[in-house]
Amino acid sequence: MAVRPIVLMGSEILRQKAMAVLPEDISSKPIQKVIDDMIETASQTPERGFMTAGLAAPQIAEPLRIVLIMSKGSNQKNPSYDVLINPELQFPSSELIDSEESCLSTPGLCGVVKRYREVQVSYMDRKAERKREKITGERAIFVQHEYDHLDGVLWVDKVTDTKTLYMCGS
Ligand SMILES: [Zn+2]
Repeated sequence: MAVRPIVLMGSEILRQKAMAVLPEDISSKPIQKVIDDMIETASQTPERGFMTAGLAAPQIAEPLRIVLIMSKGSNQKNPSYDVLINPELQFPSSELIDSEESCLSTPGLCGVVKRYREVQVSYMDRKAERKREKITGERAIFVQHEYDHLDGVLWVDKVTDTKTLYMCGS
């Protein structure tokens, strides 16, 4: 495993649509290594002094549809991540909430975006098992944020009131 450099806003790779991973490739060494590197990078790259809540493969320059989301019950001392491959999102309710966000790819910048309060996510885990999960709370926001990275979308694109933007340190 290796900690990889984080790709910053302005780089083309963060604006590309990432490629789906073929189910038969999930167990391959290169894909498992990308996942291991993502976990290592997320675990060892604190964001504003806190555990990083999630990471998308394009942020370590891998244009693949793989994201990490902080696991339920994960904490600063024992960070752990769920691996979501080829995630698909559905929104059971149209209810939106304000979410104050930042990103490892936009260090020092924070602001408010609208996110759905709950999300139904289908994905494959790193053993290529199909999973389906309804998520609410802060993990629902992390999933939406990380999913956007796979489509080349950054949280700053979704800021409707630019007065909510502020420099929040790194
Ligand atoms: Zn991000």
